[in-house]
Parts: sequence; structure tokens; C-alpha cells
Amino acid sequence: MKKIQFIVAVACAPILCILAYVVLCGPGLFGKYNPKAAKIACISNMKMIQCAYEQCKQSGRAQTKENIYGPQGYAKEEPVCPLGGAYKVELDEDGNVTVTCPHDFEGHRLP
Ligand SMILES: [Zn+2]
Repeated sequence: MKKIQFIVAVACAPILCILAYVVLCGPGLFGKYNPKAAKIACISNMKMIQCAYEQCKQSGRAQTKENIYGPQGYAKEEPVCPLGGAYKVELDEDGNVTVTCPHDFEGHRLP
């Protein structure tokens, strides 16, 4: 009888460890790698970039990275996609900005 209890305890130990790990680390892990959350964060980054370039244009300053980012700019630093990768910023002749993410295929695009 005692032997069986011992076997059950040994068999359950790894499962309990995994459960404890998921409970303790789960929110952090899923928060970081949740594709939906990453997409939402990415789109808000792109909106911010677009806004900064538009504000820069309206103020009559040259739309350069130096004017957009930094202590004198509209954002402290250039954001990157939560999944990694820098954004591609394209300006047309009128100064209209298009921001694209390297994870565009995963739905990381502005509506
Ligand atoms: Zn992205």
C-alpha cells in the first residue's frame, strides 16, 4: 500500500511542478507572446509613428528621424514591433506617411 502511494507521489511531482510553473509564470509568458496583444501593441506603435510624422509635417519641420525621435522630437525613441523588427516608414511627395511592419502578414497593419 505504501509503495503505491510513493509511486503516485513520484508520478504526480512533475505534473505539480508544471502546474506551479504555469500558474506563476503564465500571465507573463502569455502576455508577452500572445499574438493578439502583440498585434494591438504593434498597431498602436504604427499609429504613434504616423501621428508623429504628421505633426512634424504640420509644424513645417523636415520629417527626418532626428526631428521625430529624441529629446526635441515627438517620441523619445523609435518604437519596434513587439515581435521584433523595425518599422518601414515611407513618405510620398506630399509628406504623407505610410508605416509598415515586417509582420504585416500576421495582420500587423493599420486599418
Ligand atoms: Zn508588428
